[in-house]
Amino acid sequence: MNTPDTPKPRIIWLNMLVFSLTFAIAAIGVPWLALTQGLQTGTLIAAVLATGFCGMSITAGYHRLWSHRAYEAHPAIRFLYALGGAFAVQNSILHWSSDHRVHHQHVDDNERDPYSARRGFWHAHIGWMLREYQASRYHDYRNVRDLQRDPIVVWQHRHYLMLVLLTNFGIPLAFGLLSGDLLGSLLLVGVLRLVVSHHVTFFINSLAHMWGRQPYSDANTAKDNPLVALLTYGEGYHNYHHAFQFDYRNAIRWWQFDPTKWLIRALSWVGLAHGLKTCAEERIQKAVLAQQWKRAEQRLQRLPNGEELRLRLQREYEQVLQRLQDYAAARKAWLEARRKDINRQMEASGLQRQYRELRALWRGQLRLWRQRMASYA
Ligand SMILES: [Zn+2]
Ligand SMILES: [Zn+2]
Repeated sequence: MNTPDTPKPRIIWLNMLVFSLTFAIAAIGVPWLALTQGLQTGTLIAAVLATGFCGMSITAGYHRLWSHRAYEAHPAIRFLYALGGAFAVQNSILHWSSDHRVHHQHVDDNERDPYSARRGFWHAHIGWMLREYQASRYHDYRNVRDLQRDPIVVWQHRHYLMLVLLTNFGIPLAFGLLSGDLLGSLLLVGVLRLVVSHHVTFFINSLAHMWGRQPYSDANTAKDNPLVALLTYGEGYHNYHHAFQFDYRNAIRWWQFDPTKWLIRALSWVGLAHGLKTCAEERIQKAVLAQQWKRAEQRLQRLPNGEELRLRLQREYEQVLQRLQDYAAARKAWLEARRKDINRQMEASGLQRQYRELRALWRGQLRLWRQRMASYA
């Protein structure tokens, strides 16, 4: 880590130039165009679609598919993600995934986490890319050996620069020539799209580690925040993600905004994705209960009659855990019986009744627990 006495690492001028130039052009050029010539609806729609293409290539492709292997995707989809990632100018799949795996392995470690949020918002957001902070491991791809077996990953890594130039100049130029709005396309589909795609992804490393709740774990700085999820195609449920990184979902409730998860699920319905990994509900609930109990214990320690209350609540905590375990075991037994022999209806229905009874008991106990936690956690 750099102390005030040690000199800062060398500036990476290329990154500095790309980030500041594109930002300046978008910040000045787009309002200027809007005021002098107006913005064309077709170009605006193309810019929104191109931004979504870049964003989802990173979240569904670079992040959940390649970095975490949370599902498998058809080569056609992997090819599109590879193009979208180059269009988003976020380095090659191989490099991005290697950085990201180090981030998860050493999260919040200022020395090793490439974008440790403990070094502040600026560093986690963009500062980490502006200087040679981790030059020593720049070409160290030992933690992504599995990805080197994917020919699309290898091809994209080899031709990354060419793909960046082709997509970033080719797509806006082609659309501008076809639509007759060349300047608008270069500014909106070209530059504004790139700047928005960059900062939206960067928010996952900065905001999603600083602002929000920690329902699953406080072992690291990752936070759950529905507003950040709105900006980041669902990646704002980052506390869940760091707790269960192999899960293809970041938001686990149907009402939470996670379009990346919806895309992956839709791809699986049409046979373009498979092997979608999820965490067992019992494990998720256990993590939530443990986190609530931890907070309640900390609060009770500060109360004058805390110890007595703590013992009583501990019994309730153990009870709610037991109910969860009983329910999960009954559900598993019922599902297994159903899978093994659907003809033995008698046995299956007995297990089903038992599972439903235990589910009702667990839900009742959970309601009581939540009321209790409302005043303590
Ligand atoms: Zn991740
Ligand atoms: Zn993170």
